[in-house]
Amino acid sequence: MATDAVTMEKIVSLCKRRGFIFPSSEIYGGIGSSYDYGHYGVLLKNNLKGRWWHALLQERDDVVALDSAIIQHPRTWEASGHLAGFTDPLVDCRTCKLRFRADKLEDGRCGRRPSQAPGAGPDCDLTAARNFNLMFETTVGPVRDEGSTVFLRPETAQGIFLNFKHYLQFARKKPPFGIAQVGKSFRNEITPGNFVFRMREFEQMEMEFFVPPGQAEHWYEFWKQARYDWYVNLGIRPDHLRLRAHEAGELSHYSSATSDVEYLYPIGWQELEGIANRGDYDLSQHAEHSHQKLEYVDTATGERHLPQVIEPAAGADRATLAFLCDAYDEDEVDGEARTVLRLHPLLAPVKAAVLPLVKRDGQPELAREVVGLLRDQLQVEYDEGGAIGRRYRRQDEIGTPWCVTVDHQSLNDRTVTVRDRDTLAQERVAIGSLAAELERRLRARWRSPKLSA
Ligand code: ATP
Repeated sequence: MATDAVTMEKIVSLCKRRGFIFPSSEIYGGIGSSYDYGHYGVLLKNNLKGRWWHALLQERDDVVALDSAIIQHPRTWEASGHLAGFTDPLVDCRTCKLRFRADKLEDGRCGRRPSQAPGAGPDCDLTAARNFNLMFETTVGPVRDEGSTVFLRPETAQGIFLNFKHYLQFARKKPPFGIAQVGKSFRNEITPGNFVFRMREFEQMEMEFFVPPGQAEHWYEFWKQARYDWYVNLGIRPDHLRLRAHEAGELSHYSSATSDVEYLYPIGWQELEGIANRGDYDLSQHAEHSHQKLEYVDTATGERHLPQVIEPAAGADRATLAFLCDAYDEDEVDGEARTVLRLHPLLAPVKAAVLPLVKRDGQPELAREVVGLLRDQLQVEYDEGGAIGRRYRRQDEIGTPWCVTVDHQSLNDRTVTVRDRDTLAQERVAIGSLAAELERRLRARWRSPKLSA
């Protein structure tokens, strides 16, 4: 097996070449650090979000779903502390006139000498750091006055707290229970970069898990492990994943304990997801600012409580990038180099490609029939263009786990060959049992072939 050959450049290039992710607005020269997801990128990210929902909604009965508005009442951000405290330290360089994040200077590039970090060169002249609020401001309605100022949400979490009361009533839920949400968030990052790792517009998958006082520590430990396991079960190599507890100085204003799930990206260990013990900070802030009671009644004792909150907050784009990096591999097949995405089959954008060996003798017609048999159940693709080896390579590069080939024999005995992306084994399967066979393989335990032994 080849050694880990992945670099960020290779991922960016594969994503563009195969239509996963493109720089946004390219015909106008692009807009810094904005990206658009193409066909395979949408399928991959949808599968990933689908597995997240599956783990929370389908595999449990104590989590419910929400899709809240992006623009919320501006007092939300006053209560949550974002207006006053959602800032990063910003420095200007008086020489090159560029701006950098003071706590991440190593991620910036000096305007005069891009090989150096800001502040490292003899001409660098950095100002003292000042706080820069990361929220995007806009206005609602036809009159732009102070009262019309609103913010694009910098996290999906607050929409959950604003709706907590509804859930107590209509969902008949009592802590411990969770509310989960997936959606876009916006942060005017000072130094976006590293492809989709840090953007100004990105997608989050967040859950607020409300627990009775006294149970926070237990659920914090539970969700740390559950979220770590989710990545491993979807094929991330355990030696590329770790849980790291925040030091006291790193904690956010609302958190008494936070651990990050970190992935070893080609740029080093970086946060993929944060699991925070937010205490009752958010609900008590919103209760105070809205003058509403956000407590629940313990039916056993009749006492009213403000729940504590454990929050696993993941990024769908960072996770997409981590799965792409973990899957990327290069090897040799029949003396020819190939690039292959060894994605967990459940995440692969296309599960099966159906390929007639030749474009005649009734093979395309039979292959189309096979597509028709599979498509209700699986994302399948039909491809008849070019030599079979080239078509296999194309599917390998987008991570398709199985190529189904219709050949001469298929017309006689209604069997096809199924080629496995990872083992390259080819097996003959009757067309009548193909759908069940692929379903069986899809549900089987999967382990990254990049793991040694
Ligand atoms: P960082 O320290 O890297 O700025 P954060 O601790 O501010 O991240 P959180 O507020 O905990 O991030 O957000 C939860 C998740 O949302 C992160 O773990 C990450 O996956 C994702 N995320 C946050 N900011 C961005 C961004 N600018 N671009 C892409 N994903 C992001």
